[in-house]
Amino acid sequence: MATSIKETRQDNIVTVELNGYIGENSPLFEVSLHRVEKLIIDMSKVNYINSVGIKNWILWSRNIPEGCKMELYKVPPSVVTQINQVAGFLPQQAVMCSIQVPYYCDTCSKEDTRIYELGKQYQLGQGEKEGTVHHPEGVQCGKEECTYTTDVLESKFFKFLKFHKPS
Ligand SMILES: [Zn+2]
Repeated sequence: MATSIKETRQDNIVTVELNGYIGENSPLFEVSLHRVEKLIIDMSKVNYINSVGIKNWILWSRNIPEGCKMELYKVPPSVVTQINQVAGFLPQQAVMCSIQVPYYCDTCSKEDTRIYELGKQYQLGQGEKEGTVHHPEGVQCGKEECTYTTDVLESKFFKFLKFHKPS
């Protein structure tokens, strides 16, 4: 499976669209962040991350220049899981702006993901305040009679909402 990246630069903002998996090497690790003030990563086409990828992501993220903000969009479930489980996976300056939440229909056995956005379906904890999640209502698999619900254990998948940022 090929990995690729689409990179655009505007002033000091770099936007990358990452494709494929994050393993020993990822084109993301090669992106020059010299004088970059904001790094925007679209992860909608990332399918998985393996254990070497996790290690290298952490090593890479430690070298992100101080003052360079990072925004993650459409973070796939496999990466959300790592953020929940691996301390230090999500760099201090990074914000998960949207995530993919797995959905499942029992009747059709249909699996898919829905995008949850920061400030809409979830709020991050800040200071003393805990983060919250509000699942959208009336989500359908395509058939009206079915129940289409999140296929995650909320306390596990949304654990990252409990990470408090200093206010
Ligand atoms: Zn269904």
